[in-house]
Amino acid sequence: MNRAESIARLADKSEEWDILIVGGGATGLGIAVDAASRGYRTALLEKADFAESTSSKSTKLIHGGVRYLRGGEVGLVRESLRERGRLLRNAPALVKPLSFVVPAYRWYEQFFYGSGLTLYDLLAGDLGIGSTGHLSDLETIGKVQNLRGKGLYGSTFYWDGQFDDARLAIAMARTAYEHGAAVVNHMGVERLLKEKGRVVGVAAKNQVGEDEFEIRAKVVINATGVFSDSIRKMDDPEAEERIAPSQGIHIVLDQSFLGGETAVMIPSTDDGRVLFAIPWKGRVLLGTTDTGPVPVELHPKPESEEVAYLLEHAGRYFEKAPGVGDIKAVFAGLRPLVKPASVAGGDTASISRSHSLTVGESNLVTIAGGKWTTYREMAEDTVTLAERVGDFESRACITADLPLLCEEPSEAKAETISPSLPYRWDDIDRAVEQEMAQTLDDVLSRRTRCTFLETKESKEIAPEVARRMAGLLGKSDEWVSEELTRFSELRSLETPYIPE
Ligand SMILES: Cc1cc2nc3c(=O)[nH]c(=O)nc-3n(C[C@H](O)[C@H](O)[C@H](O)COP(=O)(O)OP(=O)(O)OC[C@H]3O[C@@H](n4cnc5c(N)ncnc54)[C@H](O)[C@@H]3O)c2cc1C
Repeated sequence: MNRAESIARLADKSEEWDILIVGGGATGLGIAVDAASRGYRTALLEKADFAESTSSKSTKLIHGGVRYLRGGEVGLVRESLRERGRLLRNAPALVKPLSFVVPAYRWYEQFFYGSGLTLYDLLAGDLGIGSTGHLSDLETIGKVQNLRGKGLYGSTFYWDGQFDDARLAIAMARTAYEHGAAVVNHMGVERLLKEKGRVVGVAAKNQVGEDEFEIRAKVVINATGVFSDSIRKMDDPEAEERIAPSQGIHIVLDQSFLGGETAVMIPSTDDGRVLFAIPWKGRVLLGTTDTGPVPVELHPKPESEEVAYLLEHAGRYFEKAPGVGDIKAVFAGLRPLVKPASVAGGDTASISRSHSLTVGESNLVTIAGGKWTTYREMAEDTVTLAERVGDFESRACITADLPLLCEEPSEAKAETISPSLPYRWDDIDRAVEQEMAQTLDDVLSRRTRCTFLETKESKEIAPEVARRMAGLLGKSDEWVSEELTRFSELRSLETPYIPE
């Protein structure tokens, strides 16, 4: 992907865009893939980096969401399981099957969870991954060595999908680009261009340069997740706020806190939340929380109560309990939940995870909500609606069977950039030369996942990575020091939880 070339296309007034997407998270990138592969002239502008907001901070599951069965949302679960099957097929290098156990510490739980998960399996139909079954207590401990054995009756064993969220976002950006879209990160939309009450384009500013652009398009789509009210207010300053963000954090621990390659799902902690402990890139992800309402921020701060909640619950379910000193990384994301008209307060756990698609009087299309897992279907609905808004002749959506261009970082065992980080210098070079990485944080957080795996070691390697990037981008020593300052400011959000 070539950023300069995409920017030159944005600046070229003779290029007329059919569809312009604001926001380069899962939702916006999914729309770009869909629109470009239907043959529309497509542009996507992302203010920060691709997936820098919520889309790099998920639990990294491509799943039906077992917990939604409890709320009776069978349709949402079936839709998600269908998308799970498609993603396993269309992005096999990035989306893989993952086995789970749901431990039973009361005798009836095995039957209760077993029947729910059998239904889950049935809903997947012929896109199922593997079958659900019962394991004895010893078989369960054989799969998850650090699980608490005392009082364990056994478990329900099932399968779901796991992925690398920020890398899938890059695969989607590349796929859209290869289908002719102009996709540009670090390019923020500042204003909507309007004529006779209709949105006819956007004014945008390069966040890593000085240039500003006015870009005209037949349809503008607001896919800015938790920020979508801010774009709606650019359209109509009186617009009612519809997003109720809920914060979820994860902590990253050594593999020994799980033991094995099977994940653990606790469907209901004592306050009714779901808890996951998941093997990921040789570590364990423990999450998540559900705290709301919270302010909308690009880099939300993990709160100490949230960290304490996760550590305390890990202590209940695992033999060797983690402490604050064991945390390797911590990350927080905001769920872009859409308020139903009747919800005024802050009960985010009861708001549906399915998406909302609206068209303003000005023709601004807004898509919000949903999940990573369902991005493709959300994109299909959005582009089909955009065809009506733009008065285009309708074209078939081809993304259900469209492979995504996934070339993976090496995750090498030898010659790595630093002892515990599974990446090579080639990966850094490719991030800058082919994957539009502009900042040190783009490289260390999303092209590679270094900061998500080992924050302390990422800080140590940062100066060398910044100097290498400066060489490739033609930047000065001053740029290196500015990048290091910015990188360290971002990491300071996590400082209380990461031992120096
Ligand atoms: C803790 C947590 C765990 C989750 N786990 C899972 C999971 O395991 N599986 C799953 O399927 N889903 C999961 N989700 C849900 C999923 O991550 C989100 O639904 C999805 O990432 C939302 O993507 P988005 O593109 O709508 O929003 P975002 O990722 O927030 O993208 C919106 C983008 O718009 C950009 N933007 C904002 N303003 C402007 C502007 N003016 N100009 C240009 N760009 C702008 C932002 O910078 C941002 O990058 C989880 C969510 C959370 C919070």
